[in-house]
Amino acid sequence: MMNLNPDTLKLPQRELAGQADKPILRLEAIRKVYGKHVVLDDLNLTLRSGEVVAIIGPSGSGKSTLLRCINMLGPATSGRVVVGDLAIDESIPPTAQQLTSLRRSVGMVFQSFNLFPHMSVLRNVSLPQERVLGRSRKDADKRSRELLARVGLAEKADQYPARCSGGQQQRIAIARALALDPQIMLFDEPTSALDPELGLEVLLVMQELARSGMTMLVVTHEMNFAETVSDRVIIMADGKIIEEGPSKEVMRDPQTDRAKRFLKAVK
Ligand code: ADP
Ligand code: MG
Repeated sequence: MMNLNPDTLKLPQRELAGQADKPILRLEAIRKVYGKHVVLDDLNLTLRSGEVVAIIGPSGSGKSTLLRCINMLGPATSGRVVVGDLAIDESIPPTAQQLTSLRRSVGMVFQSFNLFPHMSVLRNVSLPQERVLGRSRKDADKRSRELLARVGLAEKADQYPARCSGGQQQRIAIARALALDPQIMLFDEPTSALDPELGLEVLLVMQELARSGMTMLVVTHEMNFAETVSDRVIIMADGKIIEEGPSKEVMRDPQTDRAKRFLKAVK
């Protein structure tokens, strides 16, 4: 059974007063083209501080490509990404300084956990803090142990990833991303490689993270998560946002035929 200690899971409550309306992420006219194939078609999106937004939509609609534009893993053809005070023109190669700022402000969790197999769980969480933030090993380890406790894995710190279940490995990947104190967390189908039971323990951690005030953009095929945990749902199809609004409204009463068809097929 999972070991989620409700006390350790509580992350520091972010001070939301006064910044609830402040945009923390802005995507402006994001366009991505592969040859003649338009994968992202002038997409615009704003996330306010503390907001949790789910992106759903059929396979191939451009969801992963969009997340990869935000952290410049795969820059867009044109458009602008603004994260906090950092503005990046997607059509120009980013400077090393911009990339470092971006890596600090934007945490990313993928479908595959990508932990280093030859390093302990603790080391996996500590190393990026040393590399990216310049933290000492002692400080990084301390922070790592706190975060591993928060995702219910304090006792796994000194083991190797191979000894952990898929759900545990994904929670370690979440702790690793949180360890850089990001302003926003991006998730790309974090539970789609997991059995439902193991996916659930990851979703619970994400739910606590959402409640703690973290700004989150979550690509998911978990319709229940989209409806109940996120504040807003975005439906994408063919590189466009075809519907967006408060989660329950979008999930229960979609307006466009395309969105209706998609939800009917997956719900
Ligand atoms: P989703 O995550 O919504 O399933 P993706 O963002 O992965 O969709 O892909 C969107 C579209 O972009 C798909 O049609 C895919 O085939 C295409 N695509 C993604 N990566 C590449 C690439 N490196 N070269 C060419 N086409 C790509
Ligand atoms: Mg994808």
